[in-house]
Formats: sequence, structure tokens, C-alpha cells
Amino acid sequence: MNAYVESVIANVKAKHSSEPEFVQTVEEVFSSLSPVVDQHPEYEKADLLNRMTEPERMFTFRVVWTDDEGKVHTNRGWRCQFNGAIGPYKGGIRFQKNVYEGIIKFLGFEQTFKNSLTGLPMGGAKGGSDFDPAGKSDAEVMRFCQSFMTALYRYIGPDCDVPAGDMGVGGREIGYLYGQYRRLKGVFENGVLTGKGLSFGGSLIRPEATGYGAVYYLLEVLKHEGETIEGKRIAISGYGNVGWGIMKKAKELGAKVTYFAGPDGYIHDPEGVNTDEKLNYILEMRAKDPMHCKPYAEKFGCEFVEGQKCWGVKDVDIYMPAATQNDVKMESAEKIAASGVKYYIEVANMPTTNDALNFLRSQKHMIVAPSKAVNAGGVGVSGLEMSQNSERISWSAEEVDAMLKKMMKNIHDVSAEAAERYGFGYDLVAGANIAGFQKVADAMMAQGLF
Ligand code: GLU
Repeated sequence: MNAYVESVIANVKAKHSSEPEFVQTVEEVFSSLSPVVDQHPEYEKADLLNRMTEPERMFTFRVVWTDDEGKVHTNRGWRCQFNGAIGPYKGGIRFQKNVYEGIIKFLGFEQTFKNSLTGLPMGGAKGGSDFDPAGKSDAEVMRFCQSFMTALYRYIGPDCDVPAGDMGVGGREIGYLYGQYRRLKGVFENGVLTGKGLSFGGSLIRPEATGYGAVYYLLEVLKHEGETIEGKRIAISGYGNVGWGIMKKAKELGAKVTYFAGPDGYIHDPEGVNTDEKLNYILEMRAKDPMHCKPYAEKFGCEFVEGQKCWGVKDVDIYMPAATQNDVKMESAEKIAASGVKYYIEVANMPTTNDALNFLRSQKHMIVAPSKAVNAGGVGVSGLEMSQNSERISWSAEEVDAMLKKMMKNIHDVSAEAAERYGFGYDLVAGANIAGFQKVADAMMAQGLF
């Protein structure tokens, strides 16, 4: 490994020992950069890599809200404006009990390279709260969102920082957050948030974009291998917005999701989630109780395996982890490699531990694609939402979908090309890291030291 890259990773390890997810992502991204840094000694002179690991700004804030019984609760909110070199800070907000600095920082770091890969002018950011949305009423969620935005609104804006959804933050939360922003600012600046409802500036296809984009990216990988998607069987984890989008697009293109896993176990539906009835049922089931997917098996008479993940099943062609970070550890990776399945397409942010990811990449029979490329269609369509808002127009679903498809092809192609150029062969993981890095690096080098 390049000595400068090695020293930066060591530095991050020493400085961030209480934030393992952040250390993990820095190590993953930077370990692809050795040949690039070898060719660009000026990066070390400008201490570019250490600068990239320090957020431009990160802050916490107090979020106080009252529940329906009148009891007062105090949560913590965060916003990490990681890197603004190529555009306004951009990235989602996550509401989840386990959120802390390390999660927000890792997501903000990933977002910087992901957003760069989209080809659109968006910097990297992330935010969130340790608020647990489970079991909260609409009114409680509204009061929480209003309080969250009251603390945050001075520090964001359409040309400054544009939050969006992530886990625990969907259309409902974005609506409440935007309402409060508008009320406080007294202006209709809807470019401040993406993932909005259609009646106030949301983009068609945004809710489906991450899942659809992942399948469009997969099409390019299959094309590279001389295959098509028809008849392919897919195993996924997660059946949230993203997993659902994958199911829907797969069905449309003649493939099928035959396994999906939730927090309580996994479902095996050999027919695939291939009817509107099944797709709609998943939405209903999730809305009622996001922790259990077992009711699907009861309703459609298929197998449910309690407490297990579907990693290692043999009767599929593609694995797509679409749940959350570090879902696939070494033990699962060994099962995946042993199954003989060729395609491992990451979808959730950092779903694989570094040792598991490197193990899968080293399998000669496998092709591995990284989440920061595969799931970039979500934020990519957020970028298109920003464009529509600033022009005060809305594009048709066909227009947005066509742009998304083109964007995913481009992300695949620039990644493959960057990997090839630096001697990695068809290594989409290294390629995405290098291609995402390059634009941010150029912009930072041009803008002087800070
Ligand atoms: N949270 C999503 C992501 O991980 C979307 C971010 C956005 O649209 O700004 O990329």
C-alpha cells in the first residue's frame, strides 16, 4: 500500500477508535486509492486524504418534544456537512435508536463519494437522531420533526445543505420537516429538502429511485458478463422502500425476488414477489408492523425461516443486501461464496464488513458491486428533484426514469473504466472508490487549503 495512504488510515484508526463504522468506511475507500496517490504526489503535499477524513462541519443539537400523554422527551440530533467541494452538502437524515456520531460520520463520508459518482454537483452530508420512530403516533412524529427542524433550519438551504430521507425518514417526515422550515423562514424554498410529496415539489420516481437504480446498475453488470435479467432469481435482505423498489423493477423486467429477509427471519417464495397483490401486501404489512415479515408467508402460503438470513441459499442467481450496515459478516460471506452464486450486488449503505467484502471480491467466480455506486440512484434523483425545484418545473415519470437509467449506466461505466485504468481489472469496488474520489480531489485541489 502507498505509505501516505497507510499513514492516513492509521491516523483515522487512532483518532476514531470509538467510531468503528467510520474507520471501516475510510479503510474501505482509501485502500483502493494507492495507485492513484502513487501517480499524484501533490495529494500528499496538500495532505488531501487527511483533510478528506475531517468533516467540514459537524454539530449536534437538542430535540425536545412531548408525547401524546404530555411527557417530555429529549433526543439528540446531528448534521454532518462532510464535504462541500463539488456542490451543496447533500444527504439523508436517519431516525433510529442506534444512531450516534460514528454512524452519521460514516454515512456522510460514503455520501461524499456516492454523490460525486452521480455526476451531479452535490457535496456529501448526513444527519439524524437517536429518536426511535417505532410505535410513535403521527402527531408525535410531527412534533418531533418540527422540533428537529427548528434546531436545524438556520444551517441548511437550497444552496447550502439539502437533507432528505434515510432509514426512519420517509415522505411523512419530510412533509413535516418542510412545513416547519417554510413556517420559520417565511419563504417557499422547497429546494431545501428532497423526497417531498408531489404536491409541493417532489419528483416523480424519487420514492422508487434507489431500488430501480440498483436494478438498472445490475443490468449493466449482467450486460458486461453477456447475460440478461430475464428469469434471474434474486435474494434480498430488507423490504423497505429500497427492497420494495427492487422487487417491483425486477418483476417488470422479467426477473423475480424469490427470497427476502426481515428482522424476524426470511421468506422463500419460489414464485417470486411477482404480483401487484404481493407488492401491495408488503406495503401494508410494513406499515402495520415493520419488525415482522412472517405474515407474508401465512398470507401467500410459502416458507418462513425464523431468525435466519437468506445468505447462502443456492437456488438464486443474485444476492442483493438491502437492509442496513454490516448485515453480511464473514460467516455469511463464506456461505455466499460456497453457494456458487455469481453476483453479489450491495445496495444498503455499507452492508458488508470489510473482511467479508474483501473475501467476496477475492472469489474468482464472483462479481461484487459496491453500494455507493449501486444505490446512488436515490440521491441521483434527489439531484434531479433539486434541478426541477430551481427551475420551478416538473418532469414526467418517463423523463426522470430515463435520466436515472442513463445515470446508473454512467456510474457503472466510469467505475469500470477507472478500475481498468489503474490496473484493477473489472473491479467495481475499486473503480467506484477511484471515480468518486477523483472529482472531489480535483475540486479540493483547485480550491486551496481548507
Ligand atoms: N439517504 C439516501 C442515501 O443514502 C438518499 C440521500 C438523498 O437523497 O439526499 O443516499
